[in-house]
Amino acid sequence: MSKLNIVLFGPPGAGKGTQSAFLIKRYHLVHLSTGDLLRAEIKAESELGTQAKELMDRGELVADHIVIGMIRNKMEAHLDAKGFIFDGFPRTRAQAEALDAMLDVKEEPITAMLALEVPEEELVKRLLSRGATSGRSDDKDEAVIRNRIGEYMAKTAPLKDYFSAQGKYKAIDGVGSIDEITSRLIQAVG
Ligand code: AMP
Repeated sequence: MSKLNIVLFGPPGAGKGTQSAFLIKRYHLVHLSTGDLLRAEIKAESELGTQAKELMDRGELVADHIVIGMIRNKMEAHLDAKGFIFDGFPRTRAQAEALDAMLDVKEEPITAMLALEVPEEELVKRLLSRGATSGRSDDKDEAVIRNRIGEYMAKTAPLKDYFSAQGKYKAIDGVGSIDEITSRLIQAVG
């Protein structure tokens, strides 16, 4: 059976992390979140973590080669996975092209890009409320949040066209209860 490789896409605060948890369980996928991997590096106080933290604290993107390398390592560590869910990756065209190249080598292409759509003011509200409890410094400051959304609009949102051209882009309404949104995602996976 072919593998299920899903890109869970959307701006910061769209619910990618929350929804990943449900999809992983249902489809037995391996979760690959570059944000989580970077936060683990920061926690471990590695050199990479120290460099990444500065950018993350400003709401800017970390260099493509860093995140691509992290994803490559994790994919190689899980060659027997039933599939992957990419959460917060790819965020640039270079990352999307690198991902396609890595998957093509294994002949297991992306199945679908599920894009959670949420209006900007709702995102800011969600992130500020997450910041009160998550301990994530980039969720506490509205200017940083707006910068992250700006980076998304400028560099990441254009990937909808990239995946659309491959017939893989599926828009999902990301406003509603967690259960409702999970059902929409499951329906989209088909
Ligand atoms: P996230 O947990 O996905 O919201 O990511 C938190 C922060 O980590 C982002 O604001 C970026 O600074 C950095 N980051 C995570 N994933 C990527 C990526 N694919 N490319 C570049 N930077 C990333």
